[in-house]
Amino acid sequence: MSDYVLVINAGSSSLKYSLVDGVSGEAVASGLVERIGESQGHQVHRGPDGESNGELSIAMHEDALRAAIDAFGTYGPSLDDVDIAAVGHRVVHGGSRFAAPVLVDDALVAEVTDLVPLAPLHNPANLEGIEVARRLFPDLPHVAVFDTAFHQTLPPHAYTYAVPSEWLEEYGIRRYGFHGTSHAFVSGQAARLLGHDPADVNLIVLHLGNGCSATAVRGGESVDTSMGLTPLEGLVMGTRSGDLDPAIQTHLVRELGWSVDKIDHALNHDSGLKGLTGDNDFRELSRRQAAGDERAQLAFEVYCYRIKKYVGAYYAVLGRVDAIVFTAGVGEHSAEVRAASLQGLDRLGIQVDPDRNTAPSSTARSVSTDDSSVAVLVIPTNEEWQIARETLAVIRP
Ligand code: AMP
Repeated sequence: MSDYVLVINAGSSSLKYSLVDGVSGEAVASGLVERIGESQGHQVHRGPDGESNGELSIAMHEDALRAAIDAFGTYGPSLDDVDIAAVGHRVVHGGSRFAAPVLVDDALVAEVTDLVPLAPLHNPANLEGIEVARRLFPDLPHVAVFDTAFHQTLPPHAYTYAVPSEWLEEYGIRRYGFHGTSHAFVSGQAARLLGHDPADVNLIVLHLGNGCSATAVRGGESVDTSMGLTPLEGLVMGTRSGDLDPAIQTHLVRELGWSVDKIDHALNHDSGLKGLTGDNDFRELSRRQAAGDERAQLAFEVYCYRIKKYVGAYYAVLGRVDAIVFTAGVGEHSAEVRAASLQGLDRLGIQVDPDRNTAPSSTARSVSTDDSSVAVLVIPTNEEWQIARETLAVIRP
C-alpha cells in the first residue's frame, strides 16, 4: 500500500484538498473548490498532468468533492492508480476530548457534533466534509486531525479563565488554542534544525498568517497559547481583533444597542488589520506603509507590538528559550515584522541579523546573529504534511 493521504479541509463554503505522501511530504496534487452554494463557484486543481482554473456552479460539498475527483481524472494523478492509504480530515475543534487524531466512525461523528456549540462556524463544515468523503470513499479509512489537539497539554493554570468555576465545569469555557497542526509541525522542524530532540527544546512559535497565534512549547509540548475558547483571542490578525477588554462588548450592547451577531461579525471579520486600515492582506499593508500611509504604519506597529508582548510573556513562562520560530504567510515572508517584533530584546539574548533576515529564501533557516543566545528561525509550515503524517500514524500504529 502507498503512503498517499488525501487531506481534506472543508470550510463553510469551500473545500481544500491535497494528495500528500505522508512520509516524504511531497504533495502530488492539490486543489480548492470555493463559493459552494453560490451561483458561480470556482475550482482550481494542480496535478502532474496540468492545472485547471475555472468557474462552475457547485451546489453542495458533495458536488465539490465530485468535481475534485473529476479533476484528478483529467489532470492527474488518477485516483485508481495511486492507491490512497487514507483520508485525513482537518477538524477545527476537538474540545477537551481529543488530544490526538482519531479514526472516524459514527461514534466519532456524534462526538464532533456534540462539540458544535464550541465552534459553530467551523465544526459543522468539517463534519460535512467527513460525511461526504465517507460516502465517496467508503472503503478507505478516514482520520480526524484536530486543530486543538496539540494544546491539550496546557496545564490548568494556563487554560483556566478567572471566571465562575461552573463556566468551565458546566459549559466547557476554557482556553483550547488552535493552529495546533502548524505549531506541532514547525516545533518538530525547529528541533531538527537546532540538532536536538524535540523533548529537549523550548520554543516560542509565532504562526502569523491570516489567523495569528503564539505558542510556548516546552520539551515539544504546548504549555500556553494565545488563542482561547475560539480563534479570536491573542495576536492581531487579518480580520480578527485578538485581545481586547471584554467590557467593550457590553459597552457596545448597552450604549449603542448592538446585537450579539453584529459584535461577533465586527470582531471576527471587520477588525484586526482590516479594521485598522481597510486591508487584511499584509502585502497591501506593506505597500501602503512604504508609501507613507499613516494608518498602515500604525497598524504595523500595533501588530508587531502585540507580538512582542507575547514573546515577553512566553519567555517568562518558559524561563529558557532556545528559539523563536516564525511561520505562515507573514511570519515566513515579512522580514520587517520579524525585525520590528524582536527589536530591543538584546538583553533577553535575542538578536536578529539584518542580512540573514532579509536574504530571500523559502527554506527553513536561522536569521539570528551568531551571538544570539536565542535562535530566531523561519520555518515554512506544512499543515497538509502534518495531517498526512498523523493520519498514517493512526492507521499504522
Ligand atoms: P496564510 O494564512 O499563512 O496563507 O498567510 C496569509 C497572509 O500572509 C496574508 O496576509 C498575506 O498577505 C501574507 N503574505 C503572503 N505572502 C507575503 C509576502 N511575500 N510578504 C508579506 N506578507 C505575505
